Amino acid sequence: MTTTSDSIQALRQLDTQSHLHAYTNAQAHAEQGPLVVVRGHGVEVEDDQGRRYIEGMSGLWCASLGFSHPRLAEAGAQALRTLPYYHTFNHRSNPAVAQLAAKLLALAPVPMARVFFANSGSEANDSAVKMVWYHFNALGQPGKKKIIARQRGYHGVTVASASLTGLPGNHADFDLPLPRMLHVDCPHHWRNALPGESEEAFATRLADALDARIQAEGPDTVAAFIAEPVMGAGGVIVPPATYFEKIQAVLKKHDVLLIADEVICGFGRTGAMWGSQTFGLKPDILTCAKALSSGYVPISAVMVNERIHASLMANSGRLGTFGHGYTYSGHPVACAVALETLQVYEDDHILDRVQALSPRFLAALRHFGERAVVGEARGVGLIGALELAPDKSGKTAFPPAAKAGPRLAQLALEEGLVVRAMGDTIALCPPLIITEAELDELFARLGRAFDRFE
Ligand code: PLP
Repeated sequence: MTTTSDSIQALRQLDTQSHLHAYTNAQAHAEQGPLVVVRGHGVEVEDDQGRRYIEGMSGLWCASLGFSHPRLAEAGAQALRTLPYYHTFNHRSNPAVAQLAAKLLALAPVPMARVFFANSGSEANDSAVKMVWYHFNALGQPGKKKIIARQRGYHGVTVASASLTGLPGNHADFDLPLPRMLHVDCPHHWRNALPGESEEAFATRLADALDARIQAEGPDTVAAFIAEPVMGAGGVIVPPATYFEKIQAVLKKHDVLLIADEVICGFGRTGAMWGSQTFGLKPDILTCAKALSSGYVPISAVMVNERIHASLMANSGRLGTFGHGYTYSGHPVACAVALETLQVYEDDHILDRVQALSPRFLAALRHFGERAVVGEARGVGLIGALELAPDKSGKTAFPPAAKAGPRLAQLALEEGLVVRAMGDTIALCPPLIITEAELDELFARLGRAFDRFE
């Protein structure tokens, strides 16, 4: 990569004129141009001008081992030299996919029977939905098909996953959600609790509302409930005390399956291997992606328990095949990198590391929570958020036109720190390999951004 100013300009022009960006205002992009990132160094990335940024978001909540891990690069290179591609249709396998499936089953938070592979979180959740439908058809319950998700939940952008996502921007003008995809209340205590309502009472109210909704829809029509243990893109919403315990009692009562979307929480983010362990979820289906390969290669997985597996097996026998799978399901290079990622987590005691760093991370967030422009500071493990608001009541917000969140994120970028603004919520999800000194530097840069913002 050359870095003369002419080549930089030429590259930016190529991008502006050729590339339709993901999640970008396409009109604004024509004027603004791209931020071109050219390389990574540990927890930092470097742009085409040589400026370095601490990546406070691990990219998109995924690069847990930072941006230059030599073991992952070597595992990928070796896999490319050995078997760069093969598929898993029609009984085909490869050593890495078999080992990775077994490894994931061994790590699962509850007994799971099989692992299916895809390439993204969206595909994993789409696959989970199809498996649920297939399952109830196999059981002779074709009417049991509705999937309940939550407002502000994020499950991806493919047609089914975007339907499950509970953010208006993912539905508007895409003609979504699909029928049979329902949404219930977001469990954000600070914003949504009634005056004086405890976390436990709030959780009871939400569980009662879910119960009433399932009764109203007809329990025979409701197949599954999908939830992130901690909502990520919806604003890093940590569930209130007793929430999942009460929700799961309702699901059990109506024979509604639980899908845990561990796409962000999986692999140590909340301080345990799975968010399901941190918050007591016992899923029938678990989806994961992102940190499964530290984001280095696209890969996702769907784990199913024996009950689902048994019906998939029976139905595929009856129909002649399980008619679902991707060209890249179980890709040998992706699986090799994922296997090495899991091995590094183990060798480097990544869970211990998150548990040791988390108090420092959460204390720093709380400290920011004292600022006048921060309504709520929240987090768990090494994921957190600061919600900007004019006061701490949970009932006010800055006017949308003020674009408080994006403005703060831009100031942070100028200070050499990448954070993510989701509306007026500033998210932090640093690489799990971050050191104490780097964490302190991250918050020092954020502090300078806040000083300029206020
Ligand atoms: N589920 C969750 C919880 C996510 O955070 C995301 C992405 O951010 C997805 C699913 C979708 O994953 P992908 O963007 O890989 O399709």
